[in-house]
Amino acid sequence: PKDTVDVVVVGSGGAGFSASVSAHDHGAKVILIEKEPVIGGNAKLAAGGMNAAWTDQQKAKGIEDSLELMTKDTMKGGRNINDPALVDVLVSHSKGSVDWMTAMGADLSDVGRMGGASVNRTHRPTGGAGVGAHVVQVLYDNAVKRDIDMRMNTRGIEILKDDSGNVKGLLVKGMYKGYYWIKADAVILATGGFAKNNERVSKLDPKLKGFVSTNQPGATGDGIDVAGNAGAAMKDLEYIQAHPTLSVKGGVMVTEAVRGNGAILVNREGKRFVNEITTRDKAAAAILQQTGKSAYLIFDDSVRKSLKKIDKYIGLGVAPTADTLVKLGKLENIDGKALKETVARYNTFVTSGKDADFERPNLPRAINEGNYYAIEVTPGVHHTMGGVMIDSKAEVMNAKQQVIPGLYGAGEVTGGVHGANRLGGNAISDIITFGRLAGEQAAAYSKKK
Ligand code: ADP
Repeated sequence: PKDTVDVVVVGSGGAGFSASVSAHDHGAKVILIEKEPVIGGNAKLAAGGMNAAWTDQQKAKGIEDSLELMTKDTMKGGRNINDPALVDVLVSHSKGSVDWMTAMGADLSDVGRMGGASVNRTHRPTGGAGVGAHVVQVLYDNAVKRDIDMRMNTRGIEILKDDSGNVKGLLVKGMYKGYYWIKADAVILATGGFAKNNERVSKLDPKLKGFVSTNQPGATGDGIDVAGNAGAAMKDLEYIQAHPTLSVKGGVMVTEAVRGNGAILVNREGKRFVNEITTRDKAAAAILQQTGKSAYLIFDDSVRKSLKKIDKYIGLGVAPTADTLVKLGKLENIDGKALKETVARYNTFVTSGKDADFERPNLPRAINEGNYYAIEVTPGVHHTMGGVMIDSKAEVMNAKQQVIPGLYGAGEVTGGVHGANRLGGNAISDIITFGRLAGEQAAAYSKKK
């Protein structure tokens, strides 16, 4: 019957799609459900890139990287509370996941840098197209090619188990069909995080009460409850990431790559106050300490030309421009004279290759060309690090650290991969790698049954 499959995947973000395609390619019959009317989840909004080490793309650009270095950066970024076994999976599969996506038609040949990385390892499409939309599109096209049964407006409600505790299906609610049961040997939860649910967020971290969020409306965390009701243990739920640079004017998230490519952060007094490419938690905390709890990204036409995405911000009207820094200051109520001095001093650091004030490790270009731009930014809730506890086969575990047979988890709904703080570029890597793995494992499990 049409509602009986080997594997049902819940959520149509990068993790859910990777899981679906991978389970299919390992011989499983798959249904993918999504509660929203559209596919893609938050994955579709990801602007940064996909971190991976030791890739052909890096080699082609002469970038020296290693699995050890990516592990070290990821652990350090996560304040060393990441589950080392999961980080090992993330890192050791990262090249394979870039190759897997590339073989399916993705372009991840441009390699840039995001906060917390010691070398360039953020893989993204050439020309600066949004990585998330691209990756989701490629995965969607591949799911269509495989004729995978995808059901929108269909919410996963409850995991059903047999008397010995093995998963036997999922109760779902379709917008038109109402409640029905999908019979399956395995369920893969790929329901994403809960950053859009400020009630849940602020209960776990009161400092974030009333914060805006970058997330799509479906990021409410009901997958956490679905898993919890099935006996899943949770890990690190209290670690919630605020993205440091959400545009105050437009609510749009301004990618870290703007800083990575050369923008500086200044306060209303026209002064720098932080190493711009420090980890997200530190950058967010520093911005909240400034006058008005916001700061300005300052850059020029050379930075603008280096990153296509910036034209989108300009198009949205969130990046006012002027031909001198003093005029720019006037437009935005920043101390223009101080701003001019700050930029001149910063440019000497670019020349000498050493930031004497904040030890910023990358100084790609001076800010002195053509028009100048200012984007006012403030932190918003961006990513939830914690979630369902999984092992290194993406199997969901209960409080006794035993596997719940037939239940798998991948992506932001899980906890442990990113520890206390996720590095930019590690989410796409996480969802592709753990999605693939969950699909493969669930297909093998179903075959054995
Ligand atoms: P990831 O990056 O981990 O893949 P995303 O946020 O991109 O996560 O995708 C998760 C998707 O799961 C979103 O599209 C969200 O709407 C969907 N989702 C969340 N909860 C449910 C649910 N209970 N049933 C079906 N879909 C869900």
